[in-house]
Amino acid sequence: MSTYDVTVIGSGPGGYVAAIRCAQLGLKTALIEKYNTLGGTCLNVGCIPSKALLDSSHHYYDAVNHFEKHGIETSEVKVNFTQMIDRKAEVVSQTCSGIDFLMKKNNIDVYNGFGSFVDATHIEIASEKKTETIESKHTIIATGSKPSSLPFISIDKKRVITSTEALSLKEIPKKLLVIGGGVIGLELGQVYSRLGSEVSVIEYMPKIIPGMDGMLSKELQKSLKKQGMKFFTGHKVTSVENTGDSVTVMADNKKGISTEFNADYCLIAVGRKPYTDKLGLEKAGVLANDKGQVETNGYLQTNIPNIYAIGDVVKGAMLAHKAEEEGTLVAEIIAGQKPHIDYNLIPGVVYTWPEVAAVGKTEEQLKESGVNYKVGSFPMRALGRARASMDIDGQVKVLTNADTDEILGMHIIGARAADMIAEGVIAMEFRASAEDVARSSHAHPSYTEAIKEACLAVDGRAIHS
Ligand code: FAD
Ligand code: NAD
Repeated sequence: MSTYDVTVIGSGPGGYVAAIRCAQLGLKTALIEKYNTLGGTCLNVGCIPSKALLDSSHHYYDAVNHFEKHGIETSEVKVNFTQMIDRKAEVVSQTCSGIDFLMKKNNIDVYNGFGSFVDATHIEIASEKKTETIESKHTIIATGSKPSSLPFISIDKKRVITSTEALSLKEIPKKLLVIGGGVIGLELGQVYSRLGSEVSVIEYMPKIIPGMDGMLSKELQKSLKKQGMKFFTGHKVTSVENTGDSVTVMADNKKGISTEFNADYCLIAVGRKPYTDKLGLEKAGVLANDKGQVETNGYLQTNIPNIYAIGDVVKGAMLAHKAEEEGTLVAEIIAGQKPHIDYNLIPGVVYTWPEVAAVGKTEEQLKESGVNYKVGSFPMRALGRARASMDIDGQVKVLTNADTDEILGMHIIGARAADMIAEGVIAMEFRASAEDVARSSHAHPSYTEAIKEACLAVDGRAIHS
């Protein structure tokens, strides 16, 4: 029987990063993955394919809507949807192969098969070819998540679909209904809206991306509406029915007035749930809570001391980079180090265009906690860089402690917000004040000048607005 210092179950961004860090620290490491390719949800049916389709559809949208203004004349621009989906598959395949390479480079033993606990130190791996058992001093559960649904919805994967099917449709829907105005609903909704679908988003809460700062929800909805998407916030879906070649959805507004929606496809995007099916947690004695999350302490250790859990399968934001940080943290703890994660500084991004990105506290959270805070905002339209690229929607909002000037939150909507938010994360990691950022030189012309200006605006001294 093969024996390991550490075995990681699940090869998503949590699992494969944990495995690499363990190997770097000299631990004999195994990685178990039930699918044929490594990389988990993120690489196969999440972050990477969705961004590939967002980029392709963005190029098309620009060609149709903006090229003429830029002085570029084209003959009729057409979508070759099969090619678009094929390119996405190519990007996924290249990215997954990269993980194979990293496993080899780091001498990590990869097992293709379904892993399940025999007890706290033994794991059975079942594949079509064989079943074997390995022994491991430590195990890291990194089994991720699956799409969740509503009790009365039957996801048939044909007309009523999840993000996984939406990433590989055979046709561009004429009409697409999206239930859930969160990250998946808006990203994939925008993909199809750009390609010509009539997209309607039904959201239960009074605003889209409800967990984010109110300014971001408002501005994003305004931009997406301008691009043709329709929004039904404050609507409770009561039924979803596949009627053969279409879907009918009923939803009630706050006054109880019912609306019928019809579409070719209905994308269910109401969140994801932790995945531990048939993992045999009970055989190892590992506890999960009523949300299905594996219970962990501050060191991501389960109630069984040699078993840890990371990523979507534990509490916290379901984000690839959060899973990665946790993978590194657990590997270092097992190796005897004392790492730390500041969860307040895990950024959240929505890859629509304009992009939305945030770190730290929202204004709503600061109000609720009673902190004495100040706000500095700067509109993208005031930037030369934004006018040059015709990306004038959006703004940067910086929230600071009114007494110390320390940055408590940064909220950006606009072109390249996903990349810009790194400045906010670094600034907050070093507990910078708005003054620190405002006094740092920012290249001109660049979108990041809006961050500097928003920091200046905290004290009422923005230069360009
Ligand atoms: P996962 O990536 O889910 O990986 C878990 C792996 O474990 C899977 O490969 C699974 O097959 C395997 N597994 C499970 N059980 C077993 C078992 N018993 N034996 C063997 N293998 C097993 N996050 C971002 O930060 N940015 C984004 O842009 C982004 N976009 C997304 C877009 C979509 C459409 C979706 C669905 C998600 C997106 N996410 C994004 C979320 C991100 O994908 C997840 O947060 C991330 O993948 C979680 O990583 P993980 O390692 O915890 O689990
Ligand atoms: P989400 O939590 O972002 O959004 C779900 C939305 O559905 C929420 O706005 C919620 O209010 C709404 N909702 C819930 N029940 C509803 C109902 N009955 N009727 C109408 N609306 C309802 O979840 P998601 O968009 O499904 O994404 C799942 C996870 O994947 C998220 O945790 C997210 O972090 C991750 N993800 C991240 C990215 C990214 O980082 N860019 C992209 C995609 C997915």
